[in-house]
Amino acid sequence: MALIVQKYGGTSVGSVERIQAVAEKIKGWRARGHDLVVVVSAMSGETNRLTALAREIDPRCAGRELDVLLSTGEQVTIALLAMALGQIDCPAISFTGSQVKIQTDSTHNKARIRQVDDHRIHSELEAGKVVIVAGFQGVDDAGAITTLGRGGSDTTAVALAAALKADECQIYTDVDGVYTTDPRVVANARRLERITFEEMLEMASLGSKVLQIRSVEFAGKYDVPLRVLSSFEEGVGTLITQEEEDVEQARISGIAFNRDEAQLTVTHVPDRPGIAYKLLGPVSDANIEIDMIVQNVGADGTTDFTFTVNRNDYQNALEALQTATSEIGGEVSGRDDIVKLSLVGVGMRSHAGIASKMFRILADEGINILMISTSEIKISVVIDEKYLELGVRALHEGFNLASEEAA
Ligand code: ADP
Ligand code: ASP
Ligand code: MG
Repeated sequence: MALIVQKYGGTSVGSVERIQAVAEKIKGWRARGHDLVVVVSAMSGETNRLTALAREIDPRCAGRELDVLLSTGEQVTIALLAMALGQIDCPAISFTGSQVKIQTDSTHNKARIRQVDDHRIHSELEAGKVVIVAGFQGVDDAGAITTLGRGGSDTTAVALAAALKADECQIYTDVDGVYTTDPRVVANARRLERITFEEMLEMASLGSKVLQIRSVEFAGKYDVPLRVLSSFEEGVGTLITQEEEDVEQARISGIAFNRDEAQLTVTHVPDRPGIAYKLLGPVSDANIEIDMIVQNVGADGTTDFTFTVNRNDYQNALEALQTATSEIGGEVSGRDDIVKLSLVGVGMRSHAGIASKMFRILADEGINILMISTSEIKISVVIDEKYLELGVRALHEGFNLASEEAA
């Protein structure tokens, strides 16, 4: 008998019928003798619907009241699932994040979990119940409701699994595992049997939203056995694991991409110490995260900077840079029709030539590379958004990712 934490995403609980189907699945796991803690998301589309309502009133809405609003989505599904389980004689009890308690910091809309109080969960499990917990939400020290950022139910599940020392954390979603790339873009993408935490973290950070980044960080840190599976069909899914040294790793595990990118360039900036700080300081003061940064070799006493930000932050970043350059000099330009495309794989460490092969494949398709950034296990390029699908498919084909002997 094992203790299993399961998480069902929005599509998996998107209608009454689907909630009833999830209840049947849970009953099956109970019948096999397992203890279950179940985390659910809001019904698909609900968090977007609530966000749109809030924006009708305040286009820049954020903070405490947005969390009060958004957390209602998950409160609906925990209650409905508990009722559905009750109807099939499978005792269950639902809890909101603040009832459990999922204690977080006070950063509304993207709070971090600090601690999980597992007493109540343990006593309900001992009483033979399935414990259902609302994903995506917590409570801060002052008792205010917080939410964990989009996709945050994954992190709730992993945090609970870590706190309860669960035998496995199962993330049920609308795909049957982690694929070499988003199967919605490449039809012959291949499901991976396993992927390392490190690779999954890169994939998630670089735009593969199948798991929230923090859930992977958490799982790696606390060594939570994590599996991504389909809600709709049987299968083993994808196991996210520590790196196994003795296994020959495929060179490339997958291709991630991010459509939410924008690029800013500042030219003719005086080339002297402290200038990067003076330019980028106001951008980070405006709470804008900067991603890739390139500074050119200076010429004629001036230099150029290019960097990327999230597309939502584009206008604010432009304004911050205009303020900075009015003091120190330089010309600001930018575009918000770019995307980032990345190859990820631990095997890159020991294989040279992957970057040049990537650049050749893109060149053969006539795709211009605007920026490049690399780390030990990834190569990212920024390209025009109109080439995204073409680029992903060409790389998937060129690196032979549909086949087991990839790269
Ligand atoms: P949920 O609502 O269950 O949390 P998400 O929409 O957050 O589901 O995540 C599942 C989706 O992630 C899939 O439908 C798929 O389109 C997308 N996705 C992106 N990259 C990948 C990938 N490499 N492997 C699998 N799915 C991916
Ligand atoms: N309902 C939230 C969202 O749509 C959290 C989640 O589904 O994980 O982002
Ligand atoms: Mg998700």
